[in-house]
Amino acid sequence: MSLDILAIAAHPDDVEQTCGGTLIKMAEKGYRTGVLDLTAGDMGTRGTPEQRLEEAAEAAKIMLVGHRENLRFPDARLENTISARMTLAVKIREIRPRVVVLPYWEGRHPDHYRASELGYEACFLAGLKKLDEYSEPHRPYKILYSSIYANVTPSFVMDISAQFERRMAALLSYRSQYGGGIEGGELFPQEQEIRERLGAVARFYGNLVGVKYGEPFVVKETMLVEDVVAMGGRSI
Ligand SMILES: [Zn+2]
Repeated sequence: MSLDILAIAAHPDDVEQTCGGTLIKMAEKGYRTGVLDLTAGDMGTRGTPEQRLEEAAEAAKIMLVGHRENLRFPDARLENTISARMTLAVKIREIRPRVVVLPYWEGRHPDHYRASELGYEACFLAGLKKLDEYSEPHRPYKILYSSIYANVTPSFVMDISAQFERRMAALLSYRSQYGGGIEGGELFPQEQEIRERLGAVARFYGNLVGVKYGEPFVVKETMLVEDVVAMGGRSI
């Protein structure tokens, strides 16, 4: 297998809220896209892991994602252990993505920043020839950090205006999480509330670059530009 872009995330439904629009847009351009979820969200209040896996598969179809799998690492206590790094590194050697999207390296949920660290280190390990004798080395060329929940200035914003509705539909396929209903005395957010919240965030980032909806990313290295005349994002 060889993918153009692979998003690695801690929980099923993370990608749908962070970089799903970008995945959809890349698939529409003809790139091979994929998602690797590290846990099945088994500590979540609502739904069972099996339900979430089914919902994730449905969301993948909506996002035009060609390959999605779940490594079933322990949810809510994700750890960057040697065994987790090795499992992920070997998986990256199998999938051979050119671009990897990771969660931003700081955040409120420990699984998110651990997934970021684990993903980065696994990408590095995956490039070592002697890591594993049964798979060929592969180091992704580019790592993008999805910074939607981080209070940082993005390195760039992807215009997802044309993909926003499809991303929304993908998220809503997690009916165990976002269906209406009362659980533990609290009403879970209904579709309208989710739509408003995600819309507001996507509008905020879109506004930074003069488009309707956007998804923000951070890269650690300086961006390389080939053509300054073709650059987007108005200055004044
Ligand atoms: Zn999450």
